[in-house]
Amino acid sequence: EADAEADADADGEASGAANTHVVAHHYNELKEAGLKERNKSKIFFMRNFNNWIKSQLINEYMALIKHQKRVGDALRVLDMCCGKGGDLLKWDKAFISHLICTDIAEVSVEQCQRRYQDILQRAEKSKFGHKFTAEFFACDSTMVRLRERYKDASLQLNLVSCQFAFHYCFESLQQADCMIRNAAECLQPGGYFIATIPDAYEIIRRLKAAGPNARSFGNDVYNIEFECDTETLPLFGAKYQFHLEGVVDCPEFLVHFPTLIKLGRRHGLQLVRRSTFADYFKETLPQGRQLLQRMSGLESIQAHRYSTGEQFEHVRRLLGTQRGRPLGTLSKNEWEATTLYLVCAFKKCKNSWDS
Ligand code: SAM
Repeated sequence: EADAEADADADGEASGAANTHVVAHHYNELKEAGLKERNKSKIFFMRNFNNWIKSQLINEYMALIKHQKRVGDALRVLDMCCGKGGDLLKWDKAFISHLICTDIAEVSVEQCQRRYQDILQRAEKSKFGHKFTAEFFACDSTMVRLRERYKDASLQLNLVSCQFAFHYCFESLQQADCMIRNAAECLQPGGYFIATIPDAYEIIRRLKAAGPNARSFGNDVYNIEFECDTETLPLFGAKYQFHLEGVVDCPEFLVHFPTLIKLGRRHGLQLVRRSTFADYFKETLPQGRQLLQRMSGLESIQAHRYSTGEQFEHVRRLLGTQRGRPLGTLSKNEWEATTLYLVCAFKKCKNSWDS
């Protein structure tokens, strides 16, 4: 195991993977905001909205997986780059049987494990509580072969989820390939890899719209500043500094989507979905309306037009008073920030030839 990691580390250093330490340090230092602080945040509604998108994506692919299985069959999930465990309740609600949580930031993994234990305790007290087993470890998914860290290296997974984190691996080809192999190699044929990542096309579109020599753009809640040649963007290492109000402040990399598709194929992953958040919202709102209302305290949803020129059926009146915006509305700045992202899903094929 140690040798494998040393080899991977050596590869990483050779490819100039200097940013993973910066990213790990940033997330380790990030304090978990209390409920009071979260309610005051400028991105309060955006966080709820992003959480809803993740729930929709998880529910969509868990439903497809359950459809292939018999009642009582085990459901095993890998939450790659799990952070502080923001999706634990989603896994609980999806009635999974086993969860593997890993992240580069040790402090986050510890918090995630504590949250899991709270969920377990609550389930034990309740008559109808659902219990699932879980394992936790901190490591760099772009460098280390995760399977060697699992309690059972022959484990077969049904779903791998990587939320708001996969783009960190596009620092180099070696890192991207390692991360995709980690996502793919223990997936059962028919299983899914799902992710939410920044949409590189949208980012470049906004950069161009900011002016011919612009190197940065953003608004009150987010900012992107490029640190690479934007005229001839590299396939890997297209680095920018991403700032999201009070949550993120670290280097990220553009994900060249055609390259991601090719790398996925090498590992038997076939692209089955690529949708921008705006499109995914429109598509899944009919099934997810009630959940959206529960998750964000929404009062009603109406058609609303924002300056992107397109008509979005949009989150309109949220309950509660928020600073500097009409009573309870997802602000335009938040909408601009959340529409930087896309959802994608890959299906594991029997072999890489099929994909
Ligand atoms: N997935 C969680 C969620 O949706 O709440 C956390 C998302 S947070 C924006 C990004 C996470 O990716 C951080 O917890 C960070 O530590 C993790 N991360 C970044 N690079 C990583 C790497 N190379 N290996 C493992 N985790 C990484």
